[in-house]
Amino acid sequence: MKLTDKVALVTGASRGIGRAIALHFAAEGARLAISGRDPDRLGELRDELRTRGNEVISILGDISSEPDVVKLVQSTAEAFGRIDILVNNAGFGIFKPVVEMKTEEFDSLFSVNMRGAFIATREALRHMIAQNDGVIVNIASLAGKNAIENGAAYAATKWAMIGFAKSVMLEVRKHNIRVVTICPGSVDTEFGFSNRSNRDRILKPKDVAEAAVLAASLPATAMMSEIDLRPTNPKG
Ligand code: NAP
Repeated sequence: MKLTDKVALVTGASRGIGRAIALHFAAEGARLAISGRDPDRLGELRDELRTRGNEVISILGDISSEPDVVKLVQSTAEAFGRIDILVNNAGFGIFKPVVEMKTEEFDSLFSVNMRGAFIATREALRHMIAQNDGVIVNIASLAGKNAIENGAAYAATKWAMIGFAKSVMLEVRKHNIRVVTICPGSVDTEFGFSNRSNRDRILKPKDVAEAAVLAASLPATAMMSEIDLRPTNPKG
């Protein structure tokens, strides 16, 4: 197994990509802290992982709340004594023309997709720097590298995340901390692509999870800092 005894904190683990990453990390031997706001789905995943014999805690919280994020990282460190991997995955999208976008919608996109990841990163780094070791995996998007019609605010959060991650990487590599950003294309989750005609051909959550395992399990001296993940043959 590739992540034996590693302690991983996964945000947005109640469904979709985060859930798949938690399941794949657990299958590779990691000990897990899973978080999100939905108690039922989070509890279901926690019970499933415990049934499989994995060590796991679940922590309810809103990633846009600073106290919740601080508690999330603290609870993980208290439960396991360290944090080896942070996965900044929690996120959502609002897709509409800018002229129709409310300021509150713009703010909430940045609070969840970027500010939450910033606070989680800062808090986790305190532990990782003390350990002189760690991996931060950011789930950005190809929307963070391209222009998206009717997705300006969402795309801006992901462009911001990529810029933030690249800069943090330069700060923390001297502490043997690796910062990895995964930029998937469309993934078949509840995110908002249920009406897509090519749903069976786009990426699956497990594809992103495999990329996360790969990045987190490279030799400690090697850092895969960015992964663009696309479906091989989206049109068939
Ligand atoms: P999803 O199925 O809708 O899952 C989103 C996850 O984020 C859920 O677990 C949700 O948990 C959590 N979340 C959302 N708002 C939250 C908040 N305020 N506080 C805490 N947790 C919150 O979407 P997904 O496709 O798996 O998306 C995961 C990440 O991948 C996002 O960052 C997204 O931008 C990115 N991404 C998605 C795609 C795609 O096509 N699906 C492509 C590229 C990148 P709760 O509801 O329990 O809080």
